[in-house]
Amino acid sequence: MQNLQFNAADSKQHSPSALTETREQNVSENKTQTALRQSANQTDDDEFFYDDVPGYIKGKTKFVFVMGTVISGLGKGVFSSSLAKLLQDKGFCVEPLKMEGYLNIDSGTLNPYRHGEVFVLDDGLETDMDLGTYERVLCKNLNSQNYLTSGQIFLKVLTKEREGGYLGKDIQVIPHITGEIKKRFREIAAQKNADIVFVEVGGTVGDLENSHYLEAIREFAYEEGRENCCFVSLTYAIKPNALGEQKSKAAQHGIKKLMSLGIQPDVIAIRADEPVGLKVRQKISMNSNVPVERVISMHDVESIYLIPKLLQDAGIDAYVCKQLGFSFNVNSNSNGHSWDQFLTNLTSRDGEIVIGITGKYTQIRDAYASVIHALQHAATVCHKKLKIKWIETTEIENGNRTVEEELKDVTGIVVPGGFGTRGVEGKIACVKFARENNLPYLGLCYGFQMAVVEYARNVCKLLGAHTAEVAPNVTHKVIDILPEQKKIEGLGGNMRLGGRDVEIKENTRAYKLYNNQTSVRERFRHRYEVDPKYVETLEQHGLIFSGKAPNQPIMQILELPESVHPFFIGVQYHPEFLSRPTAVHPLFKGFVEACVARNN
Ligand code: GLN
Repeated sequence: MQNLQFNAADSKQHSPSALTETREQNVSENKTQTALRQSANQTDDDEFFYDDVPGYIKGKTKFVFVMGTVISGLGKGVFSSSLAKLLQDKGFCVEPLKMEGYLNIDSGTLNPYRHGEVFVLDDGLETDMDLGTYERVLCKNLNSQNYLTSGQIFLKVLTKEREGGYLGKDIQVIPHITGEIKKRFREIAAQKNADIVFVEVGGTVGDLENSHYLEAIREFAYEEGRENCCFVSLTYAIKPNALGEQKSKAAQHGIKKLMSLGIQPDVIAIRADEPVGLKVRQKISMNSNVPVERVISMHDVESIYLIPKLLQDAGIDAYVCKQLGFSFNVNSNSNGHSWDQFLTNLTSRDGEIVIGITGKYTQIRDAYASVIHALQHAATVCHKKLKIKWIETTEIENGNRTVEEELKDVTGIVVPGGFGTRGVEGKIACVKFARENNLPYLGLCYGFQMAVVEYARNVCKLLGAHTAEVAPNVTHKVIDILPEQKKIEGLGGNMRLGGRDVEIKENTRAYKLYNNQTSVRERFRHRYEVDPKYVETLEQHGLIFSGKAPNQPIMQILELPESVHPFFIGVQYHPEFLSRPTAVHPLFKGFVEACVARNN
């Protein structure tokens, strides 16, 4: 049986601009292919499963697949986003697709202790923290198309089955599950008009959870043509203390496993603490059929933002372009100026600032990944090295430590997002200390709510004021669930998620920090909010609500005036999700500047 969908696309040399022309030409070609496939091959009995994707043009978009071997947590997201960035700098439209093995539909209910922070996209999808890495490194907003879980795929297939969508067939992992995965590859390519899609497979090769992804990738390369795909394997060189040298055996086995699944890597990046020696690279090369110059060392460097340069120096971006049939000027760098400036700042810092971050996940830094990055961006712009002091607020709450002891050596404090009761009184004590001692304060979401509670209790003297999340029975629930208020958005008692506009009051500190803008867009993830009946009392006592939702009484920014405090700001949203090395978030910049000023 001849099936046109499996013909390799012609491997013309493409440049970014040439791609636009190719797109036009191929539209009619694509329609013909679909018609032929339908008349010649697709019957109820067909073993192939192919669902057309409108606008998809075979061979127009190229795909880079990034897969990890040996251990998880190798930094596939960092690798993939860094490589994507190098190609973005050459003028290509790049789109990442992160694929998670787990059966959750999104990351909303995952425990940050185990999985790192929940990153929220502008369209409201709650995702894995890697999406944050992609947004920061590529400096662009992503959406639901960039994130896939096995749960989404299974849900889709099972829903379709219930609706009678499979014409009496038995539904199987191959071809139905793999078919839906391949469809997602084509959809992101078509809908985002991408030149190159970077697909990152979560977990490690050999996991049962991602085996359907790897099979889908193998099939996809067979269908699209090998010249339209580039396979990259990240691996790990172990250095046992007792031996004191890097060993390649585990890496060899991991890559062999990938090859046994029908995927021959084109590039191998070896993670290690120190630069990987030639011998190890040669052994891995010999065992994997990958020339040694494409078996590169991706050792630890001071900052993840230095990885693109490391890959470029190893010539990987040039190789990937060649493999995918792209022609371009190797040194072109359409977008690199602000990035280079950031790197220059990163290497020319004098002195450090110590910032305290409170929270209950303090042992697991990944739970606050975006907050740390945003602070780092701001500190780098201010030519300072960032040192974080983690403050376990349960220790303050239990009386084991005093707030003075904990905060005496910090130049500013951040109370980040959070849920539940643990450590809450300790957080409120930190807010009080910051307010009374002119210590720069930045409250993010829960930190905004804690600042309202603290002000209500200690300045407005609303006895026992609290958030309903912690104390549903107190008289003054200054923070509460107010489904009525969310009516306009149709949310009821649900979480407000994703990008929303914030209306900013003129001539406030927020207005100044946001460069005199009266409307900005920020990302939200909260259920509770300030009860509007307390707004007047709080404002009469000196608190300023300088940002609110348009047409709704939902308070979104609070501040103390400059005449009263050097920097006291709380926001109901998560500005940390929007900070990028090349575009530092103004609130973080303002906060860190205030910390630096306090130090001088
Ligand atoms: N727990 C609070 C709420 O649900 C704050 C949420 C957060 O900090 N992300 O409103």
